[in-house]
Amino acid sequence: MDATLKLYNTLDNKISPFVSNEPGVVRMYTCGPTVYHFAHIGNLRSYIMEDVLEKYLRYIGYRVDRVMNITDVGHLSSDADTGEDKMLKGAKRENKTVMEIAQMYTEAFFNDCNKLNIRKPDTVVPATSMIDGFIHMVQTLLDKGYAYVAGGNVYFDTSKLDNYYVLTNHNQEDLNVGVREGVEEDTAKKNKTDFVLWFTRSKFEDQALKWDSPWGVGYPGWHIECSCISIENLGEYLDIHCGGVDNIFPHHTNEIAQSEAYLGHKWCNYWFHVLHLNDETGKMSKSKGEFLTVSLLENKGYDPMVYRLFCLQSHYRKPLLFTWDVLDNAKNTYDKLIKRIRTLEKDGTVDPASVQEWHMKFAEAMAQDLNTSSGITVLYDLLKADLNGATKRAIIDDFDRVLSLNLLAAADAVPEEPAADDALVAWIEERIAARKAAKKAKDFAQADAIRAELAEKGVTIKDTREGTVWELA
Ligand code: AMP
Ligand code: ZN
Repeated sequence: MDATLKLYNTLDNKISPFVSNEPGVVRMYTCGPTVYHFAHIGNLRSYIMEDVLEKYLRYIGYRVDRVMNITDVGHLSSDADTGEDKMLKGAKRENKTVMEIAQMYTEAFFNDCNKLNIRKPDTVVPATSMIDGFIHMVQTLLDKGYAYVAGGNVYFDTSKLDNYYVLTNHNQEDLNVGVREGVEEDTAKKNKTDFVLWFTRSKFEDQALKWDSPWGVGYPGWHIECSCISIENLGEYLDIHCGGVDNIFPHHTNEIAQSEAYLGHKWCNYWFHVLHLNDETGKMSKSKGEFLTVSLLENKGYDPMVYRLFCLQSHYRKPLLFTWDVLDNAKNTYDKLIKRIRTLEKDGTVDPASVQEWHMKFAEAMAQDLNTSSGITVLYDLLKADLNGATKRAIIDDFDRVLSLNLLAAADAVPEEPAADDALVAWIEERIAARKAAKKAKDFAQADAIRAELAEKGVTIKDTREGTVWELA
């Protein structure tokens, strides 16, 4: 069996065996949320799949050092350094200070993560806590000749690189991809692809967060945050950098440009990107249409585990369409799965050899570019296998180190009795009386038809000496 992880890498667009810089250790960086609003379930799809990657790496024996930033300054409405500061927009919307907004939505983000069993990375760094580090990095880029000051801002000079587009096959014309929400051309730039490392000339008089710097009072660009936080906390050689697919350009492209210019060598070996979750209108939005959050799912009666399962059922490199119908399908699947696990006997002796054998099967299924749906298929194979309940439960527990679907806990929880409403009870009793009458008149076809009618509504009936009793599934 071969459980070596074969991972798709955006850097060369190939699936190849994963090899870390240091044997047994993976240094992994994740672009964290911009905390100006709640995360939508699209954002959370990315974090779920990154969580699975981290847990899978641990499952196959790596130590994983993972760092995430919190973008609480510098992310403008367009990823290409223009438009309004997202944090400022959030603060205005809610009549709060930028720091209040940051704190509130950072908490909300980890709350959602918690509900979805997304492990919080050991190191989480708000951008505003690293300003000195950003200033040092920008100064080094200026000293090395990779940056220039123009019109009050410090820019990275992309013409100094042999190949700026290492991560994509983008070219100058495709630049508009990163330029979304109404953009004016920045005339201070030497090259169209140059990007801001440090702003001193804020367009917004009420720019809330500003720091002193050698270039005047200002604030960092978004891209420098991730490069600096990653290098400070994980060193000069990074194994995996993660994010949603929209981060490829310009954010990750710019991160590579400035990190490698700063370090003087290759920085990160694997780039892991999660494709988007879309709704029926196309792009998921926080301002238009239904704002899909974890709380909204909960308010509509969905366990967050249903959403996690929905994500795991499809591959992270395929776009995923969200509708309430497909979520209902995932709910049915989850409920049935839990019901099946509930029937497993707890008594019996766990067979360690079988646990090891199935551990390998699961590891192998997932090894092909983190194939979560194959991992779930192994779980179904296990349920059909000829093993005692206790061993199956131990194996399920082992799989759930990666799947994190609360499988045993949900199965062991007392199932909620569905409450039958009064109208339904009256209807059932009326049908039972009608069936009794039909039987008395020896119209057995009619009696059977009524039994079937009840069954269709989830009502099973049993004739006892005390009369007919019924149960709602
Ligand atoms: P943001 O808070 O805007 O910085 O985004 C947080 C993360 O969510 C980033 O990794 C984005 O690439 C990712 N993301 C944004 N929209 C979606 C989406 N519709 N589906 C999946 N991931 C997304
Ligand atoms: Zn980032």
